[in-house]
Amino acid sequence: MSDSPGEHKHHGHSHGSGEDFTDPPSDIELRVKALESLLVEKGLADPDAIDAVIDTYETKVGPRNGAAVVARAWTEPGFRNWLLKDATAAIASLGYVGAQGEQMRVLENTDKVHNLVVCTLCSCYPWPVLGLPPVWYKSAPYRSRAVSDPRGIIEEFGTHVPETSEVRVWDSTSEMRYLVLPQQPEGTEGWSAEQLVNLVSRNSMIGVEVARSPEAIRSGE
Ligand code: FE
Repeated sequence: MSDSPGEHKHHGHSHGSGEDFTDPPSDIELRVKALESLLVEKGLADPDAIDAVIDTYETKVGPRNGAAVVARAWTEPGFRNWLLKDATAAIASLGYVGAQGEQMRVLENTDKVHNLVVCTLCSCYPWPVLGLPPVWYKSAPYRSRAVSDPRGIIEEFGTHVPETSEVRVWDSTSEMRYLVLPQQPEGTEGWSAEQLVNLVSRNSMIGVEVARSPEAIRSGE
């Protein structure tokens, strides 16, 4: 098995205590928490409504941008080549720009290589194309196991990477964010980008899953 960690440069973070993985909440997190408590206490906000907004940005609005990038790459070889060569510019051409996405790199999954993205130190994540990072992405177990046992963690998400494939792990930093370009599912040749977009899950663009098959869509998975 040749699971090779990707780059491990990590800069520009203010981490409290270096080696241990238990980050104390940041100042901004504490302020947000305090503000949320205050709004709820004063009856100005419903906690369920706040959760719903977060869920929308985490699982719907954000990842749909990434899915559009992937579907475009699957249907237009010229765009795919540009994306793999200069992801930042290719993604920006679709209008997906902004904080936490200034430097992008797209990692292409093939029959031989499966890419997995993590931020081992905190939660670096490509906001313009994926929205807010899910809770598990920020968790200490994911951050450590993505490096120590990438196949195992992918397996836990229900995806088996064949032994004949190499798993490459990419450690995100404040300077470089990654988006996985999953393989186009079999049986979708000739589909339009609009149809294909529904096959591209958030998790497939992090690399813990693969793109949905047409069968999975039909059976409502
Ligand atoms: Fe980070």
